[in-house]
Amino acid sequence: EPPPVDGDFYDLSDKLSPEERAIQLKVREFMETEVDPIANEYWQKAEFPVHLIPKMGELDICGLTLEGYGCPNKSNVLQGFIAQEMARIDPSFSTFFGVQSGLAMGAIYECGSEEQKQKWLPSMQKMETIGAFGLTEPKVGSAVAGGLTTKARREGDTWILNGQKKWIGNATFSDITIIWAEDVDSADVKGFIVENDNPGFTAEKIEDKMALRTVQNALITLDDCKVKEADRLQHAESFKDTSRILRLTRASVAWQAVGCARGAYENALAYCNDRKQFGKTIGSFQLVQDLLVEMLTNLTAMQSMVYRLSELQDEGNLTDERASLAKVVCTLKTRDIVSKARELLGGNGILLRYNVARFVADSEAIYSYEGTKQINSLIVGRAITGKSAFV
Ligand code: FAD
Repeated sequence: EPPPVDGDFYDLSDKLSPEERAIQLKVREFMETEVDPIANEYWQKAEFPVHLIPKMGELDICGLTLEGYGCPNKSNVLQGFIAQEMARIDPSFSTFFGVQSGLAMGAIYECGSEEQKQKWLPSMQKMETIGAFGLTEPKVGSAVAGGLTTKARREGDTWILNGQKKWIGNATFSDITIIWAEDVDSADVKGFIVENDNPGFTAEKIEDKMALRTVQNALITLDDCKVKEADRLQHAESFKDTSRILRLTRASVAWQAVGCARGAYENALAYCNDRKQFGKTIGSFQLVQDLLVEMLTNLTAMQSMVYRLSELQDEGNLTDERASLAKVVCTLKTRDIVSKARELLGGNGILLRYNVARFVADSEAIYSYEGTKQINSLIVGRAITGKSAFV
């Protein structure tokens, strides 16, 4: 009998309180029983299993760290473990959840007025209202700070939005989308809560993705889209406010990368303990063990790093550069781990049903979204040298 497969080698889950551990295990059970059996099928179809959203809402984990508005007010450490649990089974699912719980709810919580929070957060927490976050544009990705071409013009109590947004997760079926646009008068970036049934708003599904296929990404067109002043995020004054949200979500993306790496590692280890060549299980070969241990080394280092990152966040000491460093390291190492997992499965590593190919593909998108390696490195570089090298 081979020893059990476990990608938590240093027992970091032991750091959770019994109550937190119960929440982690509840999420694990949901992911293993509801998502795992259909993950490859929906990935291949490039559809999102919307029928699972109400069940996910019942887990009571959305807006996990927020206070009030029906949110659980739990620790960032627990939130990290949950992102890991989700991505360990399906990185598309953790991305969907990150957009809803982190980006969309985070934008309203961080930058909304009291009225806006009361209006939207309780139903978003239950996942009865689904949100999206529209920052990136077809021609403006890394350079969103100071470069948005989507414009907002104020006429009395109404704002008129024009422009396009690309890659916007969940926006093909969300109820609301946070749209970031430049105010033509002040040149400041402002955020707007746009209801997707607004006649000036259209969202077209982006087809033919080779990663995170289950996530529905949209190309949004805003054509004289009218939004009331009451639906402008009242505390989003400039891009600095947008960055505050990204700082929080980048920490979660680092955990997602860890989950993606862990899923691939666990599947590869199980395979190596089962597959026989030359009359022996391949896991008994020295060169195979070397690869597995290298994967586990990086995985364990990443887990320790994101654990400390979330502790810092719980202590109120998360900075842009700390979040960016973890995002860079974890998404970079994940690419290496998933590719070694694929290697260990031989030809079966490229077949979806062996549960490693999807992690290989998905790691590519996680590597680039929420700031590419270069952009997050430049954020860290600026902090440690005091000099900005962006332009
Ligand atoms: P570019 O900015 O065009 O970059 C291309 C290359 O140039 C990269 O390697 C980059 O690092 C490099 N580069 C750029 N500037 C510099 C520089 N100064 N120095 C060195 N190198 C540089 N956006 C949203 O708003 N909402 C979402 O929900 C969302 N979801 C996404 C989901 C997926 C699956 C994907 C793929 C993207 C998503 N995005 C979303 C967009 C994502 O954040 C961007 O793709 C990302 O920020 C990179 O922008 P870009 O693709 O335009 O690449």
